[in-house]
Amino acid sequence: MKLLEDRIRTDGTVKSESVLKVDAFLNHQMDVKLFMAMAEEWQRLFAGKQIDKILTIEASGIGIAAIAASVFDVPVVFAKKSQSINLDGTVYCTRIQSFTHGKVFDVIVSKKFIGEGEHVLLIDDFMANGCAMNGLIEVCEHAGAVVEGIGIAIEKGFQHGGDSLRERGYDLQSLAIVESMDPETGEIVFR
Ligand code: 5GP
Repeated sequence: MKLLEDRIRTDGTVKSESVLKVDAFLNHQMDVKLFMAMAEEWQRLFAGKQIDKILTIEASGIGIAAIAASVFDVPVVFAKKSQSINLDGTVYCTRIQSFTHGKVFDVIVSKKFIGEGEHVLLIDDFMANGCAMNGLIEVCEHAGAVVEGIGIAIEKGFQHGGDSLRERGYDLQSLAIVESMDPETGEIVFR
């Protein structure tokens, strides 16, 4: 998506060989008009698919997923980071390795909000190694929900989470795929 690629080039910063900072428009300050254009692009890319619900993960996916939910006219649920262990069986729980913090944390989704046979679109701001999306896929599998597609704003193609999900047959649509980036020069090459 050229609009997003241009914005990454003008307002994104290559923090290191593996981390791209886009907090000026995506995951701290948020450009909602850009989110709207991104959501419309996902609507075009996933046209013809049954989407009953959007599922994302706390925190930085929530803004994008909320706008997408408005465009798809479906409810949006975010998986919550949780400190407490599920004792009463009312939530689906999975463990996710955080790319940005390096830690493993538990995330939960209430069984009330994701149901058997529902067709779910997963949305997130970034795809790196795919841990966050694999965790959400696991939640959907536990619930008996169908993962219709995965919409990612920025995929870092050199980190291969996206490629392995495509190999497993998931319909993954990333709006910008960074093939390489150079922290010395700031140069970003898109796929
Ligand atoms: P993965 O789980 O695919 O390894 O990493 C994706 C998650 O880590 C996303 O939810 C995103 O919040 C965070 N993330 C991964 N790479 C980056 C990055 O380069 N910049 C930022 N800001 N977040 C990232």
